[in-house]
Amino acid sequence: MIKPDWHHIDTLLLDMDGVLLDLAYDNWFWHQFFPVAFARHHRLSQDDANRQVQRLMEDNWGTLEWYSLDFWQRITGVDVVALKEQTRDRIAFRPQAQQFLAQLSSLGKRVLLTTNAHPETLRIKLETTGIDRYFDQLVSSADYGAAKEEQAFWQQLEQRQGVDAQRCFFLDDSLTVLDSARQFGVGHLYSIRQPDSARPPRAHTDPFPCVDNLLELLPWAMPCELTSGYGLPGFSKHGGSRKKPLPTDKSRLMGKDPSPADWQKWGSGLTSPGVTPPFACPFCK
Ligand SMILES: [Mg+2]
Repeated sequence: MIKPDWHHIDTLLLDMDGVLLDLAYDNWFWHQFFPVAFARHHRLSQDDANRQVQRLMEDNWGTLEWYSLDFWQRITGVDVVALKEQTRDRIAFRPQAQQFLAQLSSLGKRVLLTTNAHPETLRIKLETTGIDRYFDQLVSSADYGAAKEEQAFWQQLEQRQGVDAQRCFFLDDSLTVLDSARQFGVGHLYSIRQPDSARPPRAHTDPFPCVDNLLELLPWAMPCELTSGYGLPGFSKHGGSRKKPLPTDKSRLMGKDPSPADWQKWGSGLTSPGVTPPFACPFCK
């Protein structure tokens, strides 16, 4: 994966579900848990309920309604918010997402959450994960009256947040959403290879580059930190403290991709005597 051109980026726009949080929860909720609740509520056979829910989803896919709990509550009669509250313990971060978020402030850029999640869904997820503390601003498409799939969302984002689309980095698992962002002129677009941990990774996300481990996006991430979720500054996976500091001189790093020689120089200070790394990192032998 080619790292983002951070030198030409002012603002990070990050999707939530499937990027920072595991989409396994949402897919399980809507494709398994909700149809059962719908069948029970209307005393339908499970097959009938599955068909009806599937049709409703297909008819409304990609619209703001599709993401609205009010809409689903209205047309199905099921208390969707209560169901979300009941199942909130299944909400989880994607691997490395927390480590990635914790380091974002070091980039010195504005960080916005841009989500299609309905405000009630967003509230439950924020309460459960505390993810809001990593952002300068939270933007829900419901506030703009247009989903990210629509150009109206991007027009309003530009106007209300004062962002320069060309200098935005946007990370989203939906290719339809990324396509909409590209159409508007968002400059730096990336997708996620495996948004849902319960489903296989995608073969590709063409035409958009994709990332597995979010830490790979950071300009100072080292190879030895990309394998097992380690990546917090000052923490060495080799059991000892760093003999050399992380390359935290951002002015030195920003705007250039570290060369293999750089990695070697920084990585060589991480080895602790007598500790065998559990993987083969070429720079940590
Ligand atoms: Mg998403």
